[in-house]
Amino acid sequence: MENMKISAFLKNQINSFHPGPVVYRKGTVVKSGDGVVRVNQLPGRLYGELLEFDGGVFGMVFDLDEDGAGVVLLDGDDRVKVGDGVKGTDVVAEVPVGKELLGRVIDPIGRPLDGKPLEANEFYPAERPAPAIIDRRPVDTPMMTGLLSVDSMIPIGRGQRELIIGDRQTGKTTIAIDSIINQKNSDMVCVYCAIGQKASSVAGVIDTLTKAGAMKYTTVVAATASDSPAMQYLAPYCACSVAEYFEAQGKDVLIVYDDLSKHAVAYRTISLLLLRPPGREAFPGDIFYLHSRLLERSACLSHENGGGSITALPIIETSAGDISAYIPTNVISITDGQIYLESDLFLSGVRPAVNTGLSVSRVGQAAQYPAMKAVSGKLRIELSQYREMAVFARFGSDVDPATRRMLDRGETLVNVFKQNRNAPYSLFDEVSLIEAYKADYFAGVKSKEFPSEIKAFLSALEEAVPEIKKEVNESGKMSDEAKTGLEEAIKKLADGKKS
Ligand code: ATP
Ligand code: MG
Repeated sequence: MENMKISAFLKNQINSFHPGPVVYRKGTVVKSGDGVVRVNQLPGRLYGELLEFDGGVFGMVFDLDEDGAGVVLLDGDDRVKVGDGVKGTDVVAEVPVGKELLGRVIDPIGRPLDGKPLEANEFYPAERPAPAIIDRRPVDTPMMTGLLSVDSMIPIGRGQRELIIGDRQTGKTTIAIDSIINQKNSDMVCVYCAIGQKASSVAGVIDTLTKAGAMKYTTVVAATASDSPAMQYLAPYCACSVAEYFEAQGKDVLIVYDDLSKHAVAYRTISLLLLRPPGREAFPGDIFYLHSRLLERSACLSHENGGGSITALPIIETSAGDISAYIPTNVISITDGQIYLESDLFLSGVRPAVNTGLSVSRVGQAAQYPAMKAVSGKLRIELSQYREMAVFARFGSDVDPATRRMLDRGETLVNVFKQNRNAPYSLFDEVSLIEAYKADYFAGVKSKEFPSEIKAFLSALEEAVPEIKKEVNESGKMSDEAKTGLEEAIKKLADGKKS
């Protein structure tokens, strides 16, 4: 009787047993070296999926085949051995997003690097599709960098992608950082993405941003030179996802990729280790897509989609000024213009070392503030005429008075455009400097005296016409009365200087 009960119970148990979907596969590492791992017996993975190895090391799927995958390790490549087990996570690489990230420094997979805990509730995948054509609108609002030479001659609009290109140590990072600092008085949110730089340089940037009070509205995503190539490869995509969160909230975001040359090199390393065929300069065949799909995600969304935007300032380092190398030409063709920085100018003291002849902005003019547009028209031509003339004048000999005047004015203009780092101008300051130059206010001032002269001029002007300053900075426009007011004030200051 008792036995019957037990067997009935067992039968009942067996009948009611339904095997659940607990399919749990564990693959094996068959090859490991230089951070690249071959995994077998683990089919059905996703491209870009994170895999977890025994010992808690993570890798990302880069190659798929029937039975396994080619995986690039994110870190800890010395801890993965042949024969180790590995399991899929079914998630592609993702990054935490949200307001919590402002003021924070994270690595590409969202681990905080500033020693404080990070609590984010939302995650975005690293790779997201770019907004469709129909979801966009034309660029129509300026993104002020606070740099006179850029805002007047190479204006950048919100949603534009403007490349900063130049040799090493020509002030590329400084232009990007100054642009971030200048957003202090705007409503923009910023993301700075460091790729493959020295950890000390990144620390320097964070320090500069903190001192300028710019970390409040900035997130730093960093993969330094000591991080694995996979981390460096992921960094800009993750940074863009962080930016896209804010864009989706209808905000205007400024994102800096510093720099994409190192990003391309990291991707080349990965590709070569995965035995993909090398092409020009040993870069793989899909190197163009690497950057085009990233930069296409910077857009100006239509009002139905919240009207947010992402302005991108990618940075490319050239060697010996060669902008016709593979990566520079690729990125030049993807972006909406470039700011070209030159070593010679930088070393001769022209800082920011913008070569206006080779720099363009293909969409920014449409977005420029009317106050700036009204005064900046001929600057570019005057500057290029001066440069041309200066070459001839170098041969010495007498020049006629008209040429002499052009040379003097050109020199003054170059000096007006010189600007110290981390010292952005307001719109009114920029407009009045150009007006003062046009009125020959700075004629006869020596190169060395310019910084103090400009400083004195701007503070005197602020004292003289504070209401015009307020009006211009707030509205972006310069009414006729304001214009006459400004001109008179400049004239008065000039007369005061003479006497
Ligand atoms: P790298 O190739 O190392 O990344 P980079 O092109 O990013 O260099 P920066 O680091 O921005 O160049 O600048 C190089 C140096 O020049 C820095 O010490 C910086 O402080 C200085 N510098 C840059 N711009 C200016 C400026 N407008 N006025 C004075 N100093 C400047
Ligand atoms: Mg730099």
